[in-house]
Amino acid sequence: MSEYPKSPLMGQMMSQPLLVSSIIEHADRHFGANEIVSRRVEGDIHRYTYRDCHRRARQLANALEKCGVRMGDRIATLAWNGYRHLEAYYAVSGSGAVLHTINPRLTPEHIAYIANHAEDQFLMFDLTFLPLVEAFAAHCTTIKGYILMCDKDRMPASTKIPNLQCYEDLIEANSADYVWPLFDENSAATLCYTSGTTGNPKGALYSHRSTILHAYASAMPDSLCVSGRDTVLPVVPMFHVNAWGLPYSVLLSGAKMVFPGPSLDGKSLYELFESEKVTFSAGVPTVWLGLLTYMAQNNLKFSSFKRTVIGGSACPPAMMKTLRHQYGIEVVHAWGMTEMSPLGTACTLQTKHDAMSEDEKQAVLETQGHAIFGVDMKIVDDAGVELPWDGKTYGNLLVKGPWVISSYFKNEGGDVLENGWFPTGDVAIISPDGYMRITDRSKDVIKSGGEWIGTIDLENIAMGHPAVQMAACIGVVHPKWDERPLLIVVKKPGQDVSKEELLKFYEGKIAKWWTPDDVEFVDALPIGATGKILKNKIREQFKEYKLPTA
Ligand code: AMP
Repeated sequence: MSEYPKSPLMGQMMSQPLLVSSIIEHADRHFGANEIVSRRVEGDIHRYTYRDCHRRARQLANALEKCGVRMGDRIATLAWNGYRHLEAYYAVSGSGAVLHTINPRLTPEHIAYIANHAEDQFLMFDLTFLPLVEAFAAHCTTIKGYILMCDKDRMPASTKIPNLQCYEDLIEANSADYVWPLFDENSAATLCYTSGTTGNPKGALYSHRSTILHAYASAMPDSLCVSGRDTVLPVVPMFHVNAWGLPYSVLLSGAKMVFPGPSLDGKSLYELFESEKVTFSAGVPTVWLGLLTYMAQNNLKFSSFKRTVIGGSACPPAMMKTLRHQYGIEVVHAWGMTEMSPLGTACTLQTKHDAMSEDEKQAVLETQGHAIFGVDMKIVDDAGVELPWDGKTYGNLLVKGPWVISSYFKNEGGDVLENGWFPTGDVAIISPDGYMRITDRSKDVIKSGGEWIGTIDLENIAMGHPAVQMAACIGVVHPKWDERPLLIVVKKPGQDVSKEELLKFYEGKIAKWWTPDDVEFVDALPIGATGKILKNKIREQFKEYKLPTA
């Protein structure tokens, strides 16, 4: 695989392949009694240990082998964060097959497209998704069998799904006598399709090597900082970019794992945080919105929760301030994407920031942070010329590193790299000391009179208004300026604010010409399968919109 020259004097260290199975082996051997707690689809709380997980993963690996699964075969899952999904993570990849996690929030047509494109051989799924699987199974051309991840007494009496087996029957019928095979670390381990808001979804095919390197790097203190002293609750789903690598980094660190299952509402999350004494969590901003609203309504506090990583879309500064100042929680703002396994940057302060005022520290923490060692980044103009890191010039953000894709699965989209760098589609500014700030997705940037207006800043300011629950900004056609910003707002329950008050709120916070031309109030914003606001849907909805100034 290596395209680089060999030295006449090679190092004399063991050449042990970096394989996903080594994590579960390590976890069992060194932290075997540590706990994994799951809220199940069935509603109850399930508890067992790393050692139990390893045993059942080996039983599942034996079962899959008997079903004829071979190295490189794709095995799909449609499942929440839970212990059986974790077993599948290790059994499938560990045995040399490829775990294909499918996002259940996609439409049945999208799921069938993805399963056919991936040529999935088996699909394992949670009970919640029985009707969904019934809706698309007939359209899947490669799936030989379906495995329902539930207790035996919950199996349906009749179903349209062909070749349906119970996961627990498979576990029960197979021994734990299984030795994880050794193979090339560049073999594929997992497959995850991009959300595909435009065009068909494309697959990012992670290798064992990229997964292990990402797990090491993401566990470091100035990345996610996963430690054996933590109790970790990943809200970020295991069907979206491997839950940011937490199923790997938590087990290699020996932390206690807590899975929320399907219950991601504020009340259920709060109860689990408290009952299991969760110290660390990770998720997209929309999840924290639900939790914080529930806590504010019920006047609650956390007793153990200390740190959270927020990413997937820009963390609104108002949310970060509430978490930090009202609840005493350290917020690490992180940036990445499916094509990057996903972690690219994380924002933590350094010793040199100690002398800063609270406002100055907050301003640093609001950026997407520093590149994690292993990832390199740069900004370029439209001609590909590198731009300075001066804290004000913005450009297209490019990345490279051992856990960044080199091409999509089956080479969809052709050669995606630009001189060895992956174009992220994001627009960013980088400070002289390497803190990166995303200003927008390049396709969301508003082009007004030949200048660019970043929508994230406009949304963040609106979200800072006490009556605003959610905000999205889009460009709408303007006869003179090409495009001007329109702000779409969801008010907090029981709160009110007028358009004039909101526009006045921008005064002194940004250049005057960035101020939105108009505000529209709506009951809800469209949210996509990964918890992000769907700007293309909003643009569609407001495509005939006439601005008052136009
Ligand atoms: P996905 O591949 O679905 O995870 O989406 C990746 C995209 O989400 C990135 O290219 C960014 O546009 C956006 N994104 C992720 N994290 C952040 C963040 N912290 N701030 C702003 N945008 C983000």
